[in-house]
Amino acid sequence: MIRRQNQEDKMNYQRFFEDAIDQLHAERRYRIFADIERIVGRFPRAIWRANGRTEEITIWCSNDYLGMGQHPAVIAAMQQAAGGMGTGAGGTRNISGNNHPLVELEQELAQLHGKEAGLVFTSGFISNEAAISTIGRLLPNCLIISDELNHASMIEGVRRSGAEKKIFRHNDVAHLESILQAAGRDRAKLIVFESVYSMDGDIAPIAEIADLAEKYNAMTYIDEVHAVGMYGPHGGGITEREGLAHRIDVIEGTLAKAFGTLGGYITGRQSVIDAVRSYAPGFIFTTALPPAVAAAATAAIRHLKSSHVERDAQKRQAARTKQVLSDAGLPVMETPTHIVPVLVGDPELCKMASDRLLGVHGIYIQPINYPTVPRGTERLRITPTPFHSDALIEDLRDALVETWNALGISWGGEERPAVAENDRVVPLLVPKSGG
Ligand SMILES: *Cc1c(COP(=O)(O)O)cnc(C)c1O
Repeated sequence: MIRRQNQEDKMNYQRFFEDAIDQLHAERRYRIFADIERIVGRFPRAIWRANGRTEEITIWCSNDYLGMGQHPAVIAAMQQAAGGMGTGAGGTRNISGNNHPLVELEQELAQLHGKEAGLVFTSGFISNEAAISTIGRLLPNCLIISDELNHASMIEGVRRSGAEKKIFRHNDVAHLESILQAAGRDRAKLIVFESVYSMDGDIAPIAEIADLAEKYNAMTYIDEVHAVGMYGPHGGGITEREGLAHRIDVIEGTLAKAFGTLGGYITGRQSVIDAVRSYAPGFIFTTALPPAVAAAATAAIRHLKSSHVERDAQKRQAARTKQVLSDAGLPVMETPTHIVPVLVGDPELCKMASDRLLGVHGIYIQPINYPTVPRGTERLRITPTPFHSDALIEDLRDALVETWNALGISWGGEERPAVAENDRVVPLLVPKSGG
């Protein structure tokens, strides 16, 4: 609890903020950011600075899923645009900031998702917050129906819309249908959900949700942030892979993950996009993305439209990571995607495991604790990329096994299997149970 002031005390501002921070420490929720410097050409290797020391580490939790942040074509596009057009955009979209690379980027995005129009925001977070809140506010008496595991940016959009909201159980179409049915066909309804859920790595039943939306005349909004660039023959996400893009009203994505740059966007029918463009304060009253960022994003999207190499290699290395860690007995949570969560189940141990991996093994995996995931499901979230070689995967396995043993983290019920003969020999300690 944050301490209350005595009535006769003056407000002690400093004490108030210190107490707020102390509370996070007490709950093991205080966040510490690693000071890292990525190295072009050597991804996922990076320099880590801590306590006056400098060390080389391997990043295993990057959302630069395909390494496009270091792709020569993307870097060249950014350098060229900055060299030719300068650094900042110089204004909002309305007041001199509407630079040509940004206009091109929006056309590229609309085409990627087979939509009439696209609109770029300064981040994926802002795109969700601004688009959902604006659509929900414009539609009369709108009911927003939201998956319970939606990202914070979507929750913020729902809140800011001022619309009534109902939460449906994660990926539960029967529950979703009961809410739609109760609302009736005539009421305006917006279903908001994600394609790939980034913490559990599972995928929404998009076709079934689209069926329900049709049946009950609801509008659909999907967040494809963790899928664009990586799924579908042109990187158009899960909706492209499953041939469903035309059945979803608004497809949202980020330029900051698989596309390796910065910014967020929505695509959809001209009328919806134009309405958000015209009514969303989070779009209108902020400076446009710089031309260099827009040009780099377009280069990444265009590259991934035609190149399968990155997608294929990422799939292979993700599958291999899951296999190698599972074979070592680590509690890998099963996913049908590139995301590899390993369950720790305790916030303190999760933080300690992350600290040990970095300090002892030079492996950087940020701990994922409450409120990002439910208490008791604290985890290490591993994101293999095309650049995590088989040798790096083996190093990761060895480091995790050593850490699980050293800290006595649960192996997930079953006894740890013996190391396979063709595996590298690792110094094994007797695994402890519980955690
Ligand atoms: C990361 C993320 C966002 C925000 O995207 P940014 O471009 O990083 O702001 C939105 N939705 C989901 C599901 C995300 O994981």
